[in-house]
Amino acid sequence: MNPVSEHAIKHSFKLEVESVPEWVAEPKDVAARVGGEAVFECKAEGRPAPKIQWFMNGIPLEDWKDDSCRIVTNGQLQFLNLGQEDAKRIQCNASNHHGYLLGDVALNIMAPPDQPTDVTTSACMSRSANVTWTEGFNNFSPITTFYVEYNHSFAPNFWNKGAIVTDPSKTEAKVWLSPYARYTFRVIAENEIGRSMPSDPSVNACATESDRPEKHPTNVHTDISKTGWLIVKWDRMEEIEHNGPGFRYNLIIKEDGRTIKTEIYDWTVNKQEIYMGTVYEPYEIHVEAENEKGPCPYRTVMHIGHSGEAAPLITPDNFELVDIMSAYEATFQWDAVDTSPEKIRGVFKGYKIRYWKTGQKNTSMTVIEVPRTPARDTRIKKRAITETVTVNSLPPFSDLEADIVTANTYFISDPSNVVSFRTPEGVPGPVKNAQVVVSGAHHFQIQWEPPEEPNGMLLGYDIGYRKVNGSNIGEVLRTDRYDDPQLSQALIGNLEENQPYMVYVWARTIKGRGEDYFLDAKTAHAGNKSEFFSHQISSYASISTPTTTQCDAKTCQNNTSKPVMYDLIRLPQSLWPKLYNITIQPFIYDVDPMEFSFACEAIIHMDCKESTDLILIHSVGHNISFISIENETGTIELVHWWHNDDLEMLQIKSKYMLTEGEEYVLTIQSVSSMSENLRGFYYSPYREGNQTKYIFTTMMEPTDARRVFPCFDEPDFKAVFIFNIIRKEGLTSLTNLPRRLTLGPDAEGYYTDIFDEPRNVPMSTYLVAIAIGDLDNLASTVNNVSFRTWCRSREVNKTKYALEIGMKFMEFFEDYFQIPYSLPKEDMIAVPTMSFAGMEHWGLITYRENMLFYEEGVSSLNDKETMTIIIAHEVAHQWFGNLVSPFWWDDLWLNEGFATYMMFLAVDRVLPSWNMVNKQIVETRGLQNVMQADDDNNTHPVYVDVYNPDDIANIFDLISYAKGGAVIRMMNFFLGEDTFRKGLTRYLKDFSYKTATHKDLWSSLSQQAVVDNHTFTDVTAVMDTWVLEENYPVVKMSLIDDHTIQLTQSAFLETAEQRKDRSHVTWKIPFVYTTDIERNFNKTYADITWISNKTAYIKVSDTSLRNASWIIGNIQQYGFYRVNYDEHNWNALLDQLIANHTIIHVINRAQIINDAWNLARAGLLDIQIALKTLDYLDKELDFVPWKAALRELKYVKTSLQLTALYGLFEHFMRGRLRKAYFSTAVARDHYNRLQYSMISNIACEYDLEECIDDAMDKFNAWKNDNNVSMDPELKEMVYCIGVKHGGQEAWAYVLRNFIDSESTSEKQFLLDALTCSTQPWLLMTLSEMMFSTDVFSKTEKVSVLARLSGTPTGRLLAWNILEDNWKSIQDEFGEDINLFSVIISAVTHSINTPAELNRLRGFLRQQKNLGRAKAMFETAIDKAETNIKWKDKYYDTIKAWLSN
Ligand SMILES: [Zn+2]
Repeated sequence: MNPVSEHAIKHSFKLEVESVPEWVAEPKDVAARVGGEAVFECKAEGRPAPKIQWFMNGIPLEDWKDDSCRIVTNGQLQFLNLGQEDAKRIQCNASNHHGYLLGDVALNIMAPPDQPTDVTTSACMSRSANVTWTEGFNNFSPITTFYVEYNHSFAPNFWNKGAIVTDPSKTEAKVWLSPYARYTFRVIAENEIGRSMPSDPSVNACATESDRPEKHPTNVHTDISKTGWLIVKWDRMEEIEHNGPGFRYNLIIKEDGRTIKTEIYDWTVNKQEIYMGTVYEPYEIHVEAENEKGPCPYRTVMHIGHSGEAAPLITPDNFELVDIMSAYEATFQWDAVDTSPEKIRGVFKGYKIRYWKTGQKNTSMTVIEVPRTPARDTRIKKRAITETVTVNSLPPFSDLEADIVTANTYFISDPSNVVSFRTPEGVPGPVKNAQVVVSGAHHFQIQWEPPEEPNGMLLGYDIGYRKVNGSNIGEVLRTDRYDDPQLSQALIGNLEENQPYMVYVWARTIKGRGEDYFLDAKTAHAGNKSEFFSHQISSYASISTPTTTQCDAKTCQNNTSKPVMYDLIRLPQSLWPKLYNITIQPFIYDVDPMEFSFACEAIIHMDCKESTDLILIHSVGHNISFISIENETGTIELVHWWHNDDLEMLQIKSKYMLTEGEEYVLTIQSVSSMSENLRGFYYSPYREGNQTKYIFTTMMEPTDARRVFPCFDEPDFKAVFIFNIIRKEGLTSLTNLPRRLTLGPDAEGYYTDIFDEPRNVPMSTYLVAIAIGDLDNLASTVNNVSFRTWCRSREVNKTKYALEIGMKFMEFFEDYFQIPYSLPKEDMIAVPTMSFAGMEHWGLITYRENMLFYEEGVSSLNDKETMTIIIAHEVAHQWFGNLVSPFWWDDLWLNEGFATYMMFLAVDRVLPSWNMVNKQIVETRGLQNVMQADDDNNTHPVYVDVYNPDDIANIFDLISYAKGGAVIRMMNFFLGEDTFRKGLTRYLKDFSYKTATHKDLWSSLSQQAVVDNHTFTDVTAVMDTWVLEENYPVVKMSLIDDHTIQLTQSAFLETAEQRKDRSHVTWKIPFVYTTDIERNFNKTYADITWISNKTAYIKVSDTSLRNASWIIGNIQQYGFYRVNYDEHNWNALLDQLIANHTIIHVINRAQIINDAWNLARAGLLDIQIALKTLDYLDKELDFVPWKAALRELKYVKTSLQLTALYGLFEHFMRGRLRKAYFSTAVARDHYNRLQYSMISNIACEYDLEECIDDAMDKFNAWKNDNNVSMDPELKEMVYCIGVKHGGQEAWAYVLRNFIDSESTSEKQFLLDALTCSTQPWLLMTLSEMMFSTDVFSKTEKVSVLARLSGTPTGRLLAWNILEDNWKSIQDEFGEDINLFSVIISAVTHSINTPAELNRLRGFLRQQKNLGRAKAMFETAIDKAETNIKWKDKYYDTIKAWLSN
């Protein structure tokens, strides 16, 4: 459409005629709602146009003083927000001078209808009535609904809904009624606005006739709270439901054909109690309704109810406290009870654990309900189940007693045994009545009272404050720590004047800070009063702001003068450190672990013993930023300093000579990176949920202290160490000594932990330790020494056993050595990754986690034994090694040999039933094991010259530990326990806090022998032959005549071919023997014949030799030597074993086996004799000889496993094992359970059918239900057999469980089992996962390779894996000499064919840089050659023997 132009207006003309007004829109009545609006219209036409004028109630609108209405247009009037009172009349006048029109209309406000009237009962039947009414005025809104209501004579005030009529044209309704009541009606009308008032009640009532009841009572049930009684309850029926006169309840109870019927005429009754004299017996129950017309025509619902319960007859057995997890939490366990009704005598509801404070049972008892439902599955019911529950509401730091009862709905059983325990300390409650007593301009003096609930031993208080600015509350600016539990006031200084603060007072126990208690306070305006501070904390160490700047890294290191080279590996003795003050600050927050680093400030106080201008100190890998040397007179000017990486030393040249006799202070500041490689200060990762967390710790032995801080890193430089560790909130730091004080936080949130000065306890650098992490501990005290176990906080309860046993060892050694432990505390901390099982840092022993974690029922006894031995070992070091340290590493064995000897001794004394005194012979670090290691050319003497760090690291081997331990055991034998022990005490006292050599030890022992009037006093002469020479002798024992034994010694070497000439060596051998006549296996030093030359003779005057059928030497293998006999005597010994092996001491039985096999291997004995030592094994029930035999059999097995003889060999083994398998299966004690574990492992390995069946049953049960409990002793075997015989599915199941499991020991079992598969492709899958995923840890990879190489299928695969992945293996393990050597020896030890050996040689030829592995492979080649020869030589003999 186009717009019309303005200029296009047309002009027109019109004729106009005048007229009177006429309605166009005549006004009408309007009805409106309250709150709504109303619009009136009034339009008229006429000529001239009429004027419209509005009036209300006769008053013109213009004068209306109300703004609730307005004229919208000339013709419309609008009302808004109408109220009930706005109803009115409106007039509209339309007028011109010819006439007018008047409209008068109503504004009506709508309202609910008026009430109906004339309500009448028009018809009255027995179950209904017709009702009519007249409607009232609808109040301008049409009626939509009528409601008819009725009441009845039984409840005249209550109106019931009767009928609803939605057709408003009807004013009549039918109402349904019950019989036998008199009804009145009323009606309510409803329109859109609301409901009317109810009408008046109907003028005539309707009385219905009676009829039978229409229902029976509902909700019939029994109450079982009253023993012996059947209590039936129901909902009573109201009168209106009676439907007639004569109403009654019929209660019918049926039991075994008997029926009891009770009529109850009182309708208000709703329960009946009947004495049945039974306990929780079921009854069939009916409750009927009946009146004069008859009973309700419908059938009753049968209800089964029970007579009352009685107290359960069964009490839970074996109620035990499993663990106290925290100050509030303890876990209990007990045997699940038999939940059969006869025992429970009611409905089983579970248990109630009741605990109370000792002596206050009546007033302090708390009951914890442990709801349980009875097992539905009867199969489960048969099995004894242990129930476990953790109670988490215990009062801390209390002596408590607890018992448990079985509960049914209303009763409890007799209580179980009472368990007494003590909850550990918790954090305290808030302090009481804290107040600011003085507000100075710059200080507050505050006082308080101790907390009402200390929840532990109060150690002191922490005071902190925040600044308050308006509604802003700042950070806690400072926290001062007071280690005085008596303290009740303190001063806070250095505050700003006229400033509001929030002041905090926390009480503290060993568990930490308690609840907050804070005060609002404001400092005063500064006035004339002088400030007074009674307390001032010195500002704490800060390593970021050096106090001197004499020489910094640039000016010194860039000095062009040539550095002085110092070419010896040992430090000179010109400077002696006496005190180190070390401050360490790790930077480990919000950075990638690769970036973890730490700052260190070492302040070293040194005595100058010899004038020098060259200061040498060990240091590796530090970025040094500052060095200064000062003495009393000031700072010494330095020429330069230089890092000598080869010698791992820092060389500092001073401008002038340092003066002999003066003390100097060397300060070095550095920043260094932290690594994961288990050396120096390293980080040890672990998983917690989805998070990787870390423990930061140190491993300094032997020569890695220098990686943590520059130091004089040789054991002889003993000094006192003071530590300050700067760390953030949420971390705990530990060092060798207790923490004395914590300062902070500073502005960046750092706290400074300041550790005790160790008074007069100097220590060697390698014994220093630091640990930082999110740690928790269990704590106790032994002989006034605070003893704690620490680990990542969630696992702390697993260290309970370690804590207990550690304390026992501490007590044992204090008593044994008669020297108290030197430090105020001993901490043992579990670190997730560590190169050794344990490290004896003085006062802070570190352990690999599995050495400190023990879980009853999860960890195996083997694990328990291993960790027990290791803990004993490390605690023994606190004296041997820490109190007295070796002068230099060549005497490392003094540490390790003694700790090894002492660990067996301590375990035997503390846990006599473990029989460690016998078992140690066959233990990993026992005599038989190390004899085999010490019989070739690759061994070394116990005492060995070492200089550089690699050589030192290499002697942490079996020789230092086990041969060291074995020769000490021999020394104990020839000196006698009394002299030996006193001699050790003498040595430890003479050299306390110093270092010593083996010569010092010989001297102390010799002195003691003199004091004790020993006939033998030259320890040096004897022990030098054992300690300074490698290898050991074999003594050939033969009868020359009826009165003479000839003893000939020669060096024992494994094979003639590789023999060095050892003919010049003569050992001094303390020889003892017995015969079948004497049968004395408890020889003492008084019985010793010394063999000091190549040949010795024993003259026997009586007839005992002539009558003897056998002799045996080296009673209880006290001596570190083998014994050989002529064939006649060997056979006599073997006959004795078969006839009655128990005549011979258990250690000597193991010795016979061990010696025979090794002599045979060395070509000194016919292999037939060795094979015959196995014949008696079917009768042998003791652990020790079996273990000795299994070691030899493993060799035979490895030799035969890829030959045709293997089947025969397996058959032979099954024959030997059967009896031991069955007789140990029932064992319960530690010693025999371990044996069962060992025997069943082997029995299954050799496919003993019963063992396989049993293992498969257990495996399948576990596979069906992962939660099924399994004897940890058998897990290893069960999982292995399951995988071996269970195919891919079983393998995959085990793998999945391995990945999911969080238990270290469980993981190990599952991992081992994965290697048991006989399917090469599964094993290859495992291998691929090893090198392409991060599923396995380092040690797990090593363990996989080691296990694989022991199985027929895995053996060749292991080689493939090593070859294919050599580079990555070398990268990953090359640094870790322990793991590296395990891998190489595991993979190569079974090589026994020329083809395999050629392959090994070929592989080595290809390798350019073998590094440390070279020597290991050389050993492996020797070993392989020996294996091949052995097999070539004996194959036919073994074949003949097995075929017999
Ligand atoms: Zn050790």
